Amino acid sequence: MLSLCVYPHPALLAPTQKITQFDAALQQLGAEMLTLMYKTKGVGLAAPQIGRSIRLIVIDLDPENPQPLLLVNPEIVEKSREKEIDEEGCLSFPEIRARIPRAKQVNVAAQSVTGEKIEFTADGLLARCLQHEVDHLENIFFVDRASVAAKLSLKPALVKLRERAEAIKN
Ligand code: ZN
Repeated sequence: MLSLCVYPHPALLAPTQKITQFDAALQQLGAEMLTLMYKTKGVGLAAPQIGRSIRLIVIDLDPENPQPLLLVNPEIVEKSREKEIDEEGCLSFPEIRARIPRAKQVNVAAQSVTGEKIEFTADGLLARCLQHEVDHLENIFFVDRASVAAKLSLKPALVKLRERAEAIKN
């Protein structure tokens, strides 16, 4: 059973490796990440969030109507200049929400869990979610992309998460 790494868990900041082995273990891991994501009511999850420093993400915007997307080695190859600001949360930052600007449309290149090349264009919430999850692979958090003013107001909540982690450790 996988468990979720909550900020400031060091796994969230570990550099990620490109995936080169498309085996049963990878498919199994993808399936387990989806299970955890559905269970925790998220719409996206990146491997660093479960303590694995590899380039794998899963997304499903509508768990009621499951259409899971598993992407290996995903890259945002192009993004629209036009941006949209909307509220985001993250399973690794419980109870924190912030308004984050993101490109409205992105072109993504990735591979499936069996190694096939995938390329597609996404917009709206899917584009937002893809940018958020790919950021995790670069060890960038959504709160890093908030405005200076928003960052300031998020500070107490982040301090609280760090204190909670300290309390568990001691
Ligand atoms: Zn996240």
